[in-house]
Amino acid sequence: MKQKTENYQLHIDGDRQYLTFPGLDEFRELRHAFTTRHGGVSSGFVSTWNFGEPEFDSEENILRNFEILAEVMGTTADKMVLTYQTHTVNIMKVTKDDAGRGVTRPWGYTDVDGLVTDEKDLTIVTTHADCNSVFFYDPIKKVIGLAHSGWKGTLGGISREMVDIMTREYGCDPKDIIAGTGPALCKDCFEVDADVEEAFMAADPEYSQFIETRGVKYHIDLKAIIRHDLMKKGLKEENLMDMELCTKCEKDNFFSHRGHKGKRGLMVAAMRLVE
Ligand SMILES: [Zn+2]
Repeated sequence: MKQKTENYQLHIDGDRQYLTFPGLDEFRELRHAFTTRHGGVSSGFVSTWNFGEPEFDSEENILRNFEILAEVMGTTADKMVLTYQTHTVNIMKVTKDDAGRGVTRPWGYTDVDGLVTDEKDLTIVTTHADCNSVFFYDPIKKVIGLAHSGWKGTLGGISREMVDIMTREYGCDPKDIIAGTGPALCKDCFEVDADVEEAFMAADPEYSQFIETRGVKYHIDLKAIIRHDLMKKGLKEENLMDMELCTKCEKDNFFSHRGHKGKRGLMVAAMRLVE
């Protein structure tokens, strides 16, 4: 993996390695990161910067890994709030009353795959290991959002849902919203059977341009579908970013569910508005 391209910047801070979008780095009021597997305290196949899967790791290690993330983000773990991901399209508005949920205290909710806030100094966090992370920022209204968008969330339209919530609840104009996809399976690595292909075609026949038949299998470009959906929602093409990194192609740097055949940890996407 290169250290810098026009699509991402890899930050190397001691043994901690994380990525940012150059297009979001310019906003001084915003901190964001997508972690790699390098920089934490876990060992074995969840080594080293693992943020979940308690059956493979100790709670102590996972909490320490959040604390390391907090240091990188310039905050503390008790000011972070985590999704409870079950491949839904549910997005929760969060405030400082939610600080620590899923990180330093119990969630108190389930089935939340996206978080949105305009609260300062609250870090929103989603977890990933092949599924897309979608970062949202409206620099006019100062609203941040993060979505976990695997194939089910993409099919159900969690990114479209995020634009709706930002517009309805925070008064955002889609033309102002910047959005970007982090490391996730590329089209070559996302191979599925006919049932998944049929579900996408039933949802929107325009998706055919992002689906390729290879023998009895289908390859779907999920990042292109997210991008297509966001443009239909009114986001400007120049405000859409993609790190152009695949978790399976780069499985030495990322946890990949498909690449590591299920024996893997979880990485995170994180965003915070600075106080
Ligand atoms: Zn790939």
